[in-house]
Amino acid sequence: MNQFAETPSTARPTAAWPSAATAVAGVIGFPVRHSLSPLLHNTAFAAMGLDWSYVAFEVPPGSLDRAVAGAAALGLRGLSVTMPHKDAAAQLATRRSRQVRRLGAANTLRFDQGAIVAESYDGDGLLDDLRDGGFDPAGRRCGVIGAGGAARAAVLALAEAGAHEVVVVNRTVTAAWRAAALAPTVVRVGRPDDLRRADLVVQATPGAMAGGGPLAEMAAGEQAGQLAFTGQGEQGRDAEVSSVVAGVDPSWFGTGQLIVDLVYDPPLSPFLADAQRGGATVRNGLGMLVYQAARQIRLWTGEEPPLAAMWAAVAGDFTPAGPQGATGPWTWKSALQM
Ligand code: NAP
Repeated sequence: MNQFAETPSTARPTAAWPSAATAVAGVIGFPVRHSLSPLLHNTAFAAMGLDWSYVAFEVPPGSLDRAVAGAAALGLRGLSVTMPHKDAAAQLATRRSRQVRRLGAANTLRFDQGAIVAESYDGDGLLDDLRDGGFDPAGRRCGVIGAGGAARAAVLALAEAGAHEVVVVNRTVTAAWRAAALAPTVVRVGRPDDLRRADLVVQATPGAMAGGGPLAEMAAGEQAGQLAFTGQGEQGRDAEVSSVVAGVDPSWFGTGQLIVDLVYDPPLSPFLADAQRGGATVRNGLGMLVYQAARQIRLWTGEEPPLAAMWAAVAGDFTPAGPQGATGPWTWKSALQM
């Protein structure tokens, strides 16, 4: 059978593109085939009228240094970095932003005349999304569930954005202490109960992906036997998934609280669904993904990213959950009556 027999005609490669002049960027991770980043970035480049292309590179753990050296030698313009390479990417960079130095992790690399420049845009992406929704963390009581890479980025970003306090709740307390040490005057390790009255709670563990949609299932399948991921995958896809994460029960939350789950597949995680049922305003992680990608595009191209086109590209199947299931333009400011 022709190898393109099942490929939609619009997706077939043309003879004219990519050309010898096409600039290339990409994402490195393992696994990475479930990533939405190629869709997001290629949509942006097309809307900007740029002769750029963005591809996904599956790079196994331990091979990052060779992959990055190869990318630099091939003249790639930049790389997005996802699990499990964020810490290693920070280490191999020759220049690091302040956030990368604080976090010890990077999600973006730029190749600049022999230098490998590392940035971390996860925290900024979260803040961009919060502020676009009308939520300013300054002076607010915030909670973060988790203490891994995404949680640490969220903790640092919220602390630096002027949060009144940031309470970290995690399954493993030693990891929570490490996260709290990022900004000890504002951040403390707390118990699940401490989040009951938070203005904002960021769920930053993959726990809610256990009963996830197609992307999560693909990722879990690819990782079986290779990486411990959710710790719940072996329960099987039909297993009932609890919405409680690290002892935090989302049914505690209600009106006037904003609950963000960094997971976006499924779009409405069990954690968000239960928080929404109680009257809380909820948001998934798609906004953070879009806004950190927008920052990468700004860094690599020097041009303004087309946010509306990027949202449209990913919102088809992943419309962010608004208040009470509403979709389309909305702000947290109105939903939270701030
Ligand atoms: P990570 O570094 O592996 O950290 C995972 C954290 O989750 C750890 O604190 C771990 O606790 C905790 N955890 C794992 N399974 C758990 C479970 N079943 N119950 C309770 N806690 C559990 O992962 P990460 O990079 O921070 O990513 C976390 C999530 O955020 C992933 O789902 C990822 O896809 C998502 N994310 C989204 C975006 C976005 O743009 N929306 C960006 C980055 C990450 P222990 O310390 O006890 O092991």
